[in-house]
Amino acid sequence: MKEGLHKRIRAELDRRTAVANAAEADAPSPWRYGIASPRYDAIMGRDKRWVLTFAHHYEPSTFVVAFAELHDPADALRRYAGELEVLERHHPIIGDSEYCAGHLDLRLTDCPELKSLASRLGIEKRTLDS
Ligand SMILES: [Zn+2]
Repeated sequence: MKEGLHKRIRAELDRRTAVANAAEADAPSPWRYGIASPRYDAIMGRDKRWVLTFAHHYEPSTFVVAFAELHDPADALRRYAGELEVLERHHPIIGDSEYCAGHLDLRLTDCPELKSLASRLGIEKRTLDS
């Protein structure tokens, strides 16, 4: 059997979770915007270490600030945990089976939940067909 869709999604979620865990260790959530020094504003972690800095002459848009605050490592880890739960419900029935345990009558490559996960993770359509 080819490197399956399920394994590709798992590998991508594992990679992203490792990055988010490393970011959380380096700059703990929540991330908030504030004055970091007399010369800089910054997105800062809970420990007030700077994650992203902005010189006072450059004011980031409120959308950029809101986006960074919404997508801190804790947010990413919550999303990846939820996606792993979906992935666990839609695993191969047995071993290397091509059929989904969540749908029984569908191949993994036809499982709408796996297709949705793949899409959200940026796994290209051509890899779904292989
Ligand atoms: Zn399924």
